[in-house]
Amino acid sequence: MNYPIVDGRVQTRALEYHITDHCNLRCDHCCSFSPILKKWLADPVAFREDLIAVRRVVRPEFLKIVGGEPLLHPALEELLVTAHELQVGARIQLTTNGILLRQLTPRSWDCIQMLSVSLYPEPALPKDLIRYVAREAARRNIEVSWKMQDKFTCLDRTVLATRDEARDTFADCWIRHRCNSIKNGRFYSCTRPQYIQKFAADGPLFAEDGIPVHVEDAAALAATIREHLTQTEPLHSCFLCNGGQAPLDTHRQLNPQAIRAKREQLVTLTTQITP
Ligand code: SF4
Ligand code: SF4
Repeated sequence: MNYPIVDGRVQTRALEYHITDHCNLRCDHCCSFSPILKKWLADPVAFREDLIAVRRVVRPEFLKIVGGEPLLHPALEELLVTAHELQVGARIQLTTNGILLRQLTPRSWDCIQMLSVSLYPEPALPKDLIRYVAREAARRNIEVSWKMQDKFTCLDRTVLATRDEARDTFADCWIRHRCNSIKNGRFYSCTRPQYIQKFAADGPLFAEDGIPVHVEDAAALAATIREHLTQTEPLHSCFLCNGGQAPLDTHRQLNPQAIRAKREQLVTLTTQITP
């Protein structure tokens, strides 16, 4: 992708805002690390400020409201109304595991144009819930994507990559083109750095994988983001990641022991990386 800048804004496919870190499921290989993260909720004021800052310089086809599980956010309606008002992209997509979709308020439904529901073998969504969601979406012409997720990409490395491995992984990684994200005032090409920094003793090192957006010079910021999206050098986070071409594994829920082991493994790897 070459990311043209049109009317001062970098044209991208999608921009994700992860409004919760935690989830009501514990999927192995969760690309958002939700099973091993503490509860976290996006602050509605910071959410608004981040979107105002980023919409000056990035024009995604759609803005994705994601988690963790976004329906665990008690102010979800307020966040969706804000996103609808600010029109960062042409459309808004809510991405969810679907379990709590009956709690989505009519006003929230009216703010979205796309709904992506992940369907896992375990726990499977009840058929009457699926019918309810399909009905509510059809009434509003919302495009629903039912995504069967019986396989997960094994993103987590157990051993730190060499520089050549990280460079190759980064070069082949489709995630960095499809999962741009913004959180706490930084734009990231993929979802991983915003989380890895939470486990690292040197969090700022992984924060450097993102671009600060609360700066005045919009033209310079757009150019910096475009440069970031087209760079060839890997991110710090790529040394801990197998990338989008990694092998697939069967979907499963993690038990508490496996969650502890995953967290310890990630913390250990973050201590091994050098700036
Ligand atoms: S439902 Fe999604 S966010 Fe939640 S643990 Fe599974 S993959 Fe992660
Ligand atoms: S950390 Fe690197 S390899 Fe992993 S998803 Fe992001 S860009 Fe791809």
